[in-house]
Parts: sequence; C-alpha cells; structure tokens
Amino acid sequence: MPYNKDAVQNQYYKEPGPKLDKESPFESMMERFRFAADLLELDDGTFKTLAQPVRQISVSIPVVMDDGSIEVFEGIRVIHDNSLGPSKGGIRYAPDVTMDEVKALASWMTWKCAVVNVPFGGAKGAVRCNPRQLSVRELENVTRRYTAELLDVFGPDQDIPAPDMNTNEQVMGWIMDTYSMHARKAQTAVVTGKPLLLGGSKGRKEATGRGAVTLVLAALNKIGIMPGKATIAIQGFGNVGSVSAKLMYEQGARVIAISDVSGGYYNKQGIDISKAIEYRDKNNGSLEGFDGADKISNSELLELDCDVLIPAAKEDQINRKNAENIKAKIIVEGANGPITANADSILDDKGILIVPDILANAGGVTVSYFEWVQDRQGYFWTEERVNRRLNRMMKDAFDLIYKEKDRYNITLRQAAYVYAINKVARVLKMRGVYG
Ligand code: NAD
Repeated sequence: MPYNKDAVQNQYYKEPGPKLDKESPFESMMERFRFAADLLELDDGTFKTLAQPVRQISVSIPVVMDDGSIEVFEGIRVIHDNSLGPSKGGIRYAPDVTMDEVKALASWMTWKCAVVNVPFGGAKGAVRCNPRQLSVRELENVTRRYTAELLDVFGPDQDIPAPDMNTNEQVMGWIMDTYSMHARKAQTAVVTGKPLLLGGSKGRKEATGRGAVTLVLAALNKIGIMPGKATIAIQGFGNVGSVSAKLMYEQGARVIAISDVSGGYYNKQGIDISKAIEYRDKNNGSLEGFDGADKISNSELLELDCDVLIPAAKEDQINRKNAENIKAKIIVEGANGPITANADSILDDKGILIVPDILANAGGVTVSYFEWVQDRQGYFWTEERVNRRLNRMMKDAFDLIYKEKDRYNITLRQAAYVYAINKVARVLKMRGVYG
C-alpha cells in the first residue's frame, strides 16, 4: 500500500488535546521533524518507525485517599525510541495531560539525547492528577503504585525516569525505593534527579542553566562579541533562568532584564543578579517588588535591544505576533519550545542566531546521564568534574551542530534536527528490523 507521510503524522497526533493548536510546541516539533526527514530523504520505513513510539503504556492507579475513598488515576509511560540505549525522560503530574502530549514529549527526548551524544533513547511519563489537591501521603501512594505498575518497563538498562513538571527529588526517591524493594537490592540507577544522599549527582540542579550559558558563550564567540561586553535579557527566573543569569553575571556580562510571572525588571546599567536571587529567595520565590530595576512587562522584555535573549519560562513566547519586534542578535532557548515554528522564518530573515531547545537546554539530561554513570560505577564525582565534563559535552555538541549548519546551509535548529534524526536513523538501519 502506498505510504503517506501526512497520514502517519495525523495518526500520530490524532487527538490534539487542549495545547495542540497550530502554534503549539509539539506541532512545531513535528514541522521541524518533517523538514529534517525531507532533507535527509529519509525512506518511508524509517520515517514511519520514527513517527511512532516503540511502546505506549496506560495504567490504572487506584489509591486509598485520606478520607478512606478510592480514587483511580491514569498513568502513562511512552517510550519513543530505545535503539541507542535505555530510554530516558521525565515524569509529569498534571490534571490535563494527554497520551498525545506525552508521545510528542517522548520523541523530543529522543532528539535531545541524540544531539548531545548521550547514549539514551527518548521517553516521557505522566500521571493525570492535580498534585496540589493531594496530601503528601496520597502523592507517595500514587507514585509507588505508578512505579509498581511499570516495574517491568523501568530499569537501569531499560527505561530511566527523571523529574518533570510537578515532580521533584522526593518523588524520584519514592520511585527508586519502590523499584529497589521489588528488586530486593538498592537500584539507584533506575531514576535520575534523586537527592544527593540517594545517589544523586552534584551539579544536577544547576546543569540546565550552566549548559545554556556554555552555549551563550559559544554563540557570542561566533558573532565576535566578548562576554564582558554583552547585554543579556532573560525571561523566567526559576531554575534555568536564574542560574543562567547568575553565571552570565559572573562572566561580566550586563544582565539588563529579568522576569518572572510577576512581570519584567529592567536596568540599562545591569542588574545585580546576586541581589535579585537573594530578594527572590526571601520573597517566597517571587521578584514582585524588586527595586534594583524598573518594572516592564514580559512582552517588553522579549523585545528589548540586547545581544542575547534567553527565554527560560514557558513555551510559545515568541510567535508570529511578536517575532518581527525581536531585536536580540542571539536567542538561546532555555525553555522547551519558546519559539513557534511560524516565528522561526521571521527570526531567520532578521539574521538572528537561534540556539534551539534540543541543544540549548540539554545540559539537564547530560548531567542526568552523569548521575546514571556514577550510580552504576558506585563512584561519585566532584562538582568541578561534573561541570567540566558538562561544559565539554555542550561545547562539542554546539561545534558539531554548527558544522552541520554550514554543511547544509541551514539554520542551527534545522541542523540539530538533521543531526539527531540522521543519527537515530543510521542506528535503526545498522540494527535492522527484527521479526
Ligand atoms: P521553574 O518553574 O523553576 O521556573 C519558571 C520561571 O518562569 C519562574 O520564574 C516563573 O515565575 C516564570 N514564568 C512563568 N510564566 C511566565 C511568564 N508568562 N512570563 C515570564 N516568566 C514566567 O522552571 P524551570 O525548571 O526553570 O524550567 C523553565 C523552562 O525550562 C521550562 O520550559 C522547562 O521545561 C525547561 N527546561 C527545564 C529543565 C530543568 O532542568 N529545570 C531542563 C530542560 C528544560
């Protein structure tokens, strides 16, 4: 039967769910996947294989609630690809999460791991629940039963979860404990993002921001701007945004604007980032009322005249409505999917160098890989060693993808997808089809 790419893609995303509008990150990702597949002249069989996850599992999670009633939650785990090694990807707890969203996020992980040359495939998991409405005991029971239902899926050599939206070190600790109790031995390498005492890695918390900053420096170097002369604007002041701000500030760069949900903060002379972090930590995690800068809106921040813009908050922030107004010379995507596919071409026409999310925020998965290696070796590295190796892997990945960009005369984003998809496709070819 003749094969039709559109039909396969439509089948892959047949139930778009609330977030999948035309400018959603997942639709954007599929558009970029299609571009790379066309450029690589991927054969239909490989395209079909990569457009579908290898496994998608849905489990029921019955939990005795604090009031004695039984509630049943839906748990999901999707393994998009495991041809390069065990699959890797976070678990999110959210009330509106759908199987299609998890499928798309799992494929995103495949490309991310391939780009930074981490020997993992891609996966993602979720429990459809509202963690804010659950007590700690209920949350623990949800986590333990979800893990128990997936005992034959998870494993240090099979599939390795990590934290994502609304899950944290404690949740990873419960997963590790549940898995280990059934294995009758401590199995630290079954999850990453664990507390240090349970086999976590030094440097993991700062890894995504640190990796992004390595790439800011590499990109500045490409356009001939010294870090000490650069002006930076950062959207989002959480884990990724504040670490990026702190490290750029330490490089001597002028961080002229930062922001969080409370709005943007602008100071042409540069913001004292240690003061901003201190203020946020004393102020319930919020920058509201920070007086080291003038108040601006989040959309004004995105449109500031600066050398580097780091969107590190959420998806779809730069889209076809505001792309024309962006003035930064470089954009480093700390967040996942902050630029829609529609905005890409507008920004490219303006000559803006975009370091794409699957490269720019891969520092997190890289140090997760280090955590897994350390757990398996039973030998733990100093923070200095973690950071040095992270910097090297990020810089090597940047150089590699930059070469691909020049080779095909395409954008850095297209080059990242081309490199990742080509790599996984070659592995699939070498392994052949069993059965
Ligand atoms: P976080 O929750 O620690 O911080 C998010 C920040 O964004 C907060 O300061 C919040 O106030 C701010 N924010 C939310 N909505 C905003 C808005 N509309 N305008 C401006 N600011 C807004 O999250 P994080 O871990 O820093 O993650 C940020 C992004 O990076 C997400 O897209 C995440 O998926 C991605 N990411 C994170 C990691 C990681 O290791 N933490 C790894 C890869 C990708």
